[in-house]
Amino acid sequence: MSHQAVAQSGEKYRDSISLVDKGGDRNWVYPKKPKGPLYTGRTWFSISLMVLLFAGPFIKLNGHPLLLLNVLERKFIILGIPFWPQDMPLFALLMLTFVMFIIVFTVVFGRVWCGWACPQTIFMEMLFRKIEYFIEGDFKAQKKLDDQSWNTEKIIKKTAKHIVFFALSVLIANTFLSYLIGIDEVKMLVLDGPMAHLGKFTALIIFSAVFYAVFAKFREIICIVVCPYGRLQGLMLDRNSIVVAYDFLRGEPRGFRKKGVEQSLGDCVDCKRCVQVCPTGIDIRNGTQLECINCTACIDECNDVMTHINQPKGLIRYASQEEIASGKVKRITPRSAAYTVILLVLMGVLSYLLFTRKDVDATVLRTPGMLHQTQNDGKISNMYNFEVVNKTFTTQHIDLKITSPAGAELKMVDREGHTFELGEDGLVKGSFFIILPQSAIKTNNTEAKVDVYSNGKLMNTITTNFVAPVKF
Ligand code: SF4
Ligand code: SF4
Repeated sequence: MSHQAVAQSGEKYRDSISLVDKGGDRNWVYPKKPKGPLYTGRTWFSISLMVLLFAGPFIKLNGHPLLLLNVLERKFIILGIPFWPQDMPLFALLMLTFVMFIIVFTVVFGRVWCGWACPQTIFMEMLFRKIEYFIEGDFKAQKKLDDQSWNTEKIIKKTAKHIVFFALSVLIANTFLSYLIGIDEVKMLVLDGPMAHLGKFTALIIFSAVFYAVFAKFREIICIVVCPYGRLQGLMLDRNSIVVAYDFLRGEPRGFRKKGVEQSLGDCVDCKRCVQVCPTGIDIRNGTQLECINCTACIDECNDVMTHINQPKGLIRYASQEEIASGKVKRITPRSAAYTVILLVLMGVLSYLLFTRKDVDATVLRTPGMLHQTQNDGKISNMYNFEVVNKTFTTQHIDLKITSPAGAELKMVDREGHTFELGEDGLVKGSFFIILPQSAIKTNNTEAKVDVYSNGKLMNTITTNFVAPVKF
């Protein structure tokens, strides 16, 4: 229905987002303190995720972090496995697979991630909001406190809240920094004092200030305006996606029930408790909306109302639009099936690449600008630059052997023999000559093969070109 048609039909039509009031100012949301089985479940789930997040930097596998995303040094460790800049294609595929997984999950299960596992929701609803309820009281008390003029009570409560908020923001910033630069670096930063690492300390303060601003001020603005995942919901969700939905067939026409009066009303008693409890300030009875983070607070609240008026629970529940409208449940659609196939293909390719990933990576390139050389004994040589990377945390004994063409020799420029040691996560660069007898040169561009062994195991066979004119 067009905007005009809706207006003419007399239906309420919302053409602005919930966080802005009619005058264009911020509509500060004072959500009622949620309670109920889903909220309790979310609380315990959030506690376990927070324990994992805060403990994560301290957990080490063989002396190395479980997760490190050091973007500055381009060093990544996932589940104890190191990834290097040379692994970028693999890393990009990993990210692509992850994004595809999120798309498939969202198409089928809607915004379950936002409500149950997103760090923004977890910190906001399960940490900062709970502290706010503890210090300032429930929604009505909070509004009263904000509306009243500054007195001792307001100064004490506001100061206490913001001190705790900032302290928590510093803790969260330190934790995220630990995943970026490692817990040992962060410990050093704390123990050595700010002046010893001014750059990192400044970054930490900026991180903390951003977290503080997000949880003290911006709140649901992050979900509605900033988060790209939230903004893409319109593209990913369809009529068969599971969302937090109001059963309008059962609920309408809504209205207050008068005792002893015969009324033809739906189950919604229009108590607006689902609206009061919503952290993004929307009325879910208007249908699926951009602001809904699927936090389930309205489900708990409405179930409580239904219990009190002796009606079945589930007037607001997890359901698809199609399920509410037609009663038909359709979990697998052509769209979700097609996405799943793409995801499975990506997972297959990723698994293959991960299982065949070598401990050592090597590149050999002819030294640019160098022509062939004639040795004293009449043999012909070409010079090459090589680079060998150890992708493991153990020392590797590297051996370079030339296997083709027959009679070829490999001679290092700056070391004896053709073996060397490569320390943990180390990189060795160098140069060598490939020397061929005249008899082995049959074309101007002879193919040469170099085997790279690590700890006695063949890792790579590198094919390169040996350039020299054929002598007639
Ligand atoms: S809580 Fe339930 S009954 Fe009350 S207004 Fe919301 S949908 Fe209607
Ligand atoms: S509408 Fe319900 S599920 Fe959606 S954000 Fe509001 S309270 Fe949470």
